Amino acid sequence: MRWEERYMRRALELAQEAAECGEVPVGCVIVLHGEIVGEGRNRREERQRTSSHAEMEAIEAANARLGSWRLSEAELYVTLEPCPMCAGAILNARIGRVYYGARDRAMGAVGGVSNLFMEDYPNCPAVVGGILAEECAAVLQRFFSELRTGE
Ligand SMILES: [Zn+2]
Repeated sequence: MRWEERYMRRALELAQEAAECGEVPVGCVIVLHGEIVGEGRNRREERQRTSSHAEMEAIEAANARLGSWRLSEAELYVTLEPCPMCAGAILNARIGRVYYGARDRAMGAVGGVSNLFMEDYPNCPAVVGGILAEECAAVLQRFFSELRTGE
């Protein structure tokens, strides 16, 4: 398995955990020099907090673990394309590289709707989309179809 798929698999596990807790399934890991230093999943319902997206939780965990707000050497893996809030946090954390799975045509800020990382901000990360895209999208589709059928 390619290494970026290995980290995305872990993000998918976190997304699945979110689904089991009734949260929109999105998972995220932050990797520094080949080691996972932060994990997060959507906890918006649990916390009733607008900002409790997977990326925000993972960035917070990495900040705490590394004792630093600067994550410029780190890579972020997330199952769904980041929204404008999370893309903004990624810019502020100076994360160097972002891998995402599924495109988000509703809230995506990395190409789905807009692309903040193409704008003239300092420290825009390199981006690779479409990592395990079908599996990342499937976990979301399953969640929403089960919601509709009331399972
Ligand atoms: Zn977000």
